Amino acid sequence: MTVERDVMEYDVLVVGAGPAGLAAACRLKQNAAEAGKEISVCVVEKGSEIGAHTLSGAVFEPRALNELFPNWKELGAPLNTPVKRDEVWFFTSPEKGIKTPGMFVPRTMHNEGNYVISLGNLCRWLGQQAESLGVEIYPGFAAQEILIDENNVVRGVQIGDMGVDHNGQPKEGFYTPGIELRAKYTLFGEGCRGHLGKRLLKRYQLDENSDAQHYGIGLKELWTIDPAKHEQGLVIHGAGWPLNSANPGGFFLYHLENNQVYVGLIVDLSYSNPHLSPFDEFQRIKHHPVLKQYLEGGKRVSYGARAICKGSYNSLPKMVFPGGALIGCDLGTLNYSKIKGSHSAMKSGMLAADAAAEALLAGGEGGDELNGYTEKFKASWLHDELYRDRNFGPAMHKFGVLFGAAFNYVDQNWFRGKSPITLHDDTPDHTTLKLAAESQKIVYPKPDGVISFDKLSSVFISSTNHAEDQPVHLKLTDPNIPIGKNLPLYDEPAQRYCPAGVYEVIGDAEKKFQINAQNCVHCKTCDIKDPAQNINWIAPEGSGGPNYGSM
Ligand SMILES: Cc1cc2nc3c(=O)[nH]c(=O)nc-3n(C[C@H](O)[C@H](O)[C@H](O)COP(=O)(O)OP(=O)(O)OC[C@H]3O[C@@H](n4cnc5c(N)ncnc54)[C@H](O)[C@@H]3O)c2cc1C
Ligand code: SF4
Repeated sequence: MTVERDVMEYDVLVVGAGPAGLAAACRLKQNAAEAGKEISVCVVEKGSEIGAHTLSGAVFEPRALNELFPNWKELGAPLNTPVKRDEVWFFTSPEKGIKTPGMFVPRTMHNEGNYVISLGNLCRWLGQQAESLGVEIYPGFAAQEILIDENNVVRGVQIGDMGVDHNGQPKEGFYTPGIELRAKYTLFGEGCRGHLGKRLLKRYQLDENSDAQHYGIGLKELWTIDPAKHEQGLVIHGAGWPLNSANPGGFFLYHLENNQVYVGLIVDLSYSNPHLSPFDEFQRIKHHPVLKQYLEGGKRVSYGARAICKGSYNSLPKMVFPGGALIGCDLGTLNYSKIKGSHSAMKSGMLAADAAAEALLAGGEGGDELNGYTEKFKASWLHDELYRDRNFGPAMHKFGVLFGAAFNYVDQNWFRGKSPITLHDDTPDHTTLKLAAESQKIVYPKPDGVISFDKLSSVFISSTNHAEDQPVHLKLTDPNIPIGKNLPLYDEPAQRYCPAGVYEVIGDAEKKFQINAQNCVHCKTCDIKDPAQNINWIAPEGSGGPNYGSM
């Protein structure tokens, strides 16, 4: 069937209204205003509103924001809680832990000058700034396909069709073909494991000279706690129990304003035990006395999960291709030694924007490789920062939590990240699972409904929703792999690594793989961790997915 599509044209199109995309959009308009010229900018966002799909920690480093809006305080940016104090813990058992003396904490883990924020709220504010600068923003629009012309040049994106039934057929009275958004340059800022970014990496072989990208799954809850236990500005990080060197990760608990705390766990997706369930690890770590002391007597308000890409400098792919560029976590700019990617995402967006504006204001017609972006990146503080971070992740993977931490202490505090050694970790995360039969089974405690909860009640408070009767957005390349291969080898780990209960193996005599796609919180873990790389996450109909408030 030939479909007539509306077409809209811009100078620059930005995919994704995260910190990277919104900072890029603002910066483009600022450049145009300074030059007294016009640059048309459009941002599309798959969430129902800006911030609806944003999930972060978040301790925010304001460096990039200071550059973008030096007067952000006057403009009312939602940075209300300066960090007052850091604690770093190593949990030795379910009951015990050791607080690391400040002098032994890698300097990148110190948070003086940073703020505890809701990244979703910061994005909402950035969206308002972008709109007041003249950027057109369309929430509820999911970029589904990349428009590539006969000369291999990216010309924009196609928005997904609305009103299509689960067989891919138009629903009478509801069908609306997705429009084509064309641009001289398209900046892809979809965040970690963008589904279009993944295609761009492959098509233009952008990552052929970089180490494998590495990931974690971050699970997070927002709690309102007893005011007597609340210490606004306290930031707690830690590692150890219940995770270990073969299945690493770390937790956080941040005290923000209004007697609220964020509590979360990041599990490295290089974990090896297929019986491990990141969700259940998160639920049980909250019972550790160091965390429970704050949560007891409080009330859970929200839940969510999102993958984080942490390969950093060594995993950075080529950032440009004809007609566009990757920005933020779609590129992989998170600084793992700081566990921070918001400021670096913003900075990468701003650098891409500067390069695009320079080319357009000089009369360029776009469609070329934005090499100015690569040059600006190499000359920027972001490059310096990520270079200094390059050994952090590989050291943890190679030497384990304790020796890795010791290496990183020396690398960061003595050499300031500039030691002559560069460690590499080129093992992709989907290849690290051991066989189920050779791995220790894990019996997780039942949730008590007070501190710990089950998956379904958790997904409920993420306000996740997808329009019913639409094509399943989790595509299996080979539908036989989950039962035929993954089940006997790994007891089908998707049942456990998905933090939203999307994947189930049902049936006794005849096993069946069931996909409850409507529960998906868009974390992308299945796309990353499936050992056969058989699951492809693609954007569902716009507005579908979680509806996070202040995450
Ligand atoms: C649990 C956790 C804790 C973290 N803690 C911190 C912290 O304390 N400090 C810190 O600085 N960083 C932290 N980070 C990292 C930080 O959140 C990311 O680095 C940052 O959000 C990256 O910004 P981004 O704009 O690149 O991507 P994102 O913030 O992921 O934004 C991408 C946007 O693009 C949209 N999108 C994606 N695909 C499409 C599409 N096809 N069409 C339309 N829209 C699309 C998404 O809905 C989303 O709104 C944490 C991350 C996690 C998961
Ligand atoms: S289906 Fe995949 S992307 Fe969706 S919540 Fe589960 S693991 Fe995350």
